[in-house]
Amino acid sequence: MSNLDQSPVTDLRGIGTQMRDKLARLGIATVQDILFHLPLRYMDRTRISPIGSLQPNTEAVVEGEIRGCDIVMGRRRSLICKVQDKTGLITLRFFHFAAAQRHTMRVGATMRCYGEVRRGSAGLELYHPEYQILDGKQPEPLAQHLTPVYPAADGITQNRLRSITEQSLALLNADNLSELLPQTQANQAQQDSLIDALRFLHRPPANAPVAQLATGEHPAQQRLAFEELLAHHLSMQRLRQTIRQQGAPALAQDEALTAQFLKVLPFALTAAQQRVSAEVAADISQPVPMLRLLQGDVGSGKTVVAALAALQAIGSGYQAAIMAPTEILAEQHRQNFEAWFAPLNIRVGWLSGKIKGKARDYQLKAIADGSAALVVGTHALFQDQVEFHNLGLTIIDEQHRFGVHQRLALKEKGRHDKLTTHQLIMTATPIPRTLAMSAYADLDVSVIDELPPGRTPVNTVAIDDQRRLEVIARIRDACQQGQQAYWVCTLIEESETLEAQAAEVSAEELALMLPELEIGLVHGRMKPALKASVMSDFKAGKLNLLVATTVIEVGVDVPNASLMVIENPERLGLAQLHQLRGRVGRGSVASHCVLLYATPLSRQAKERITIMRQTNDGFIIAEKDLELRGPGEVLGTRQTGDVDLRIADLQRDAHLLDAVKIRAQDIIAHHPELVAPLIRRWLGERESYGQV
Ligand code: ADP
Ligand code: MG
Repeated sequence: MSNLDQSPVTDLRGIGTQMRDKLARLGIATVQDILFHLPLRYMDRTRISPIGSLQPNTEAVVEGEIRGCDIVMGRRRSLICKVQDKTGLITLRFFHFAAAQRHTMRVGATMRCYGEVRRGSAGLELYHPEYQILDGKQPEPLAQHLTPVYPAADGITQNRLRSITEQSLALLNADNLSELLPQTQANQAQQDSLIDALRFLHRPPANAPVAQLATGEHPAQQRLAFEELLAHHLSMQRLRQTIRQQGAPALAQDEALTAQFLKVLPFALTAAQQRVSAEVAADISQPVPMLRLLQGDVGSGKTVVAALAALQAIGSGYQAAIMAPTEILAEQHRQNFEAWFAPLNIRVGWLSGKIKGKARDYQLKAIADGSAALVVGTHALFQDQVEFHNLGLTIIDEQHRFGVHQRLALKEKGRHDKLTTHQLIMTATPIPRTLAMSAYADLDVSVIDELPPGRTPVNTVAIDDQRRLEVIARIRDACQQGQQAYWVCTLIEESETLEAQAAEVSAEELALMLPELEIGLVHGRMKPALKASVMSDFKAGKLNLLVATTVIEVGVDVPNASLMVIENPERLGLAQLHQLRGRVGRGSVASHCVLLYATPLSRQAKERITIMRQTNDGFIIAEKDLELRGPGEVLGTRQTGDVDLRIADLQRDAHLLDAVKIRAQDIIAHHPELVAPLIRRWLGERESYGQV
């Protein structure tokens, strides 16, 4: 047999086109794929446990004599059978059963059963165990190995998966599945042979450490996790290599322009802003494309850093583009940049999905002929019709909202004369180190680790919705003292329309109760022009209270707003809550955030609210968020397949990452021929989007 990565599953006995298609839905095409389709967990059918030793929530095989069997009419009609051995008695409980079953369970007969032990009303119980009445018959032999349970798939039974893996394991040998990790003296996770690890994990011996296998920390699992992380890392490195080879315009700093801009700014840069600006400036002055992640908590002042980078591009005769994930945020950037750049005679172009007809043609033309030196927009900038004159720098704000695909799409726009653009990606969601190393291995990272002076930390309290009236009174007080407030209505089942309605209802209620205040409303269903005018009224202080949906989540900047009420905070994740709260605490007065929750709270919601009350530190919040939700959701990349790991778990296996990095360097330097097969084995086709 040829290499297993070349052998289609149909090479195996009994697999026809139908089963092939079912397996394909699991991403399994070759015999190698089958071997990498690992059990989710194991059942121990290798030994008979004494009934007296059973523990709840474990699975066990027991054997004993039937002491009774009855149909019981409880809340549900069920068949109850009592089985006893020398050490104790256990109850079997069946909800679905046939009359005949009851007759075979004859008192005095010997029965062997297998199932999960639970604490029931009659003490320990087995629910719906598999069973066999021995009745003098020879019992089936006990299993030699732990029994694997594979990730479920439609139309493929566990037995079928077991027989398919059995066949594949029988074929497996060192000639048809290559070892891609050259042996070194390095640590255990890299030591075991691939083949041994696979054999072990598909059919662990009876004495295998079950608890360790359950947490994924067994050396055989770690061996595979290591290789998988290594493959991802190499893939990122390769992507980065490809990008670097393309070349980018060297953008020279225009001292005069920079000085002029800094003179217009109403404040001095913080030390952190100066440092990261210098890092960016040095990068983009090179003829190699920059790929830099600018990380800074909400309110740390990333926009100015973006402006300085844009000026360097513009000063060198190139265009710069800044893209924001929402209309409101893009609009705010437009206003900022217009105010900053007008005195410098730099024209700001503007493109969003809502700009149509003549206005759009006009903008497209300015972008194409280069008269718009800076272009601000939403994802509308990705569209095919958008042609830049000579884009030299792309700035993407709030990266976690965009996938890798979109990022690359915009980069494509910059390709002219075989050069690509520099990229600055800004995020207020601090990426935990573990993620930064893997998902973002293709990026350099700059961190703004300091807030502008004069900020006071936001004081966060959680208040039960029953005390709503007190909260409303508090808004009145704050606004009468000249402060401004937000009232945020949270997402209802992902529906913008329902969310908008909820905001309208709250706005009416608040208007009735607070007749002395000027109240505005913004939500995602409003016309952009109206939205923009409400926002600018709020910014100008003409409105005391802004009722809004989570559309204001990112980036909105009104320093005089010092109170935020978030209705139903239990509906939001930590990252979103942190983003929202970041809208206050931007001025010098003490700010407050009220989490107005509805009871009962789920355990997770309680936990999130507690964390929000305890800390303002975005980094800690991001770490907790990762713990509570897992990396796919944190990055919002579940769909894009960014961090799509089969065996490794970024949190559990974070301790492997340093070794992964070192190993990757070693392979690139000494075994470059292994890079492609490793990536193919673990990422398969998925890598292709990374090819620029
Ligand atoms: P973010 O990092 O969340 O995008 P922004 O760039 O919107 O933050 O900046 C937040 C606020 O802080 C803005 O009002 C901005 O003008 C102000 N700001 C930025 N840098 C400084 C600074 N060095 N000193 C004082 N205020 C600053
Ligand atoms: Mg911002």
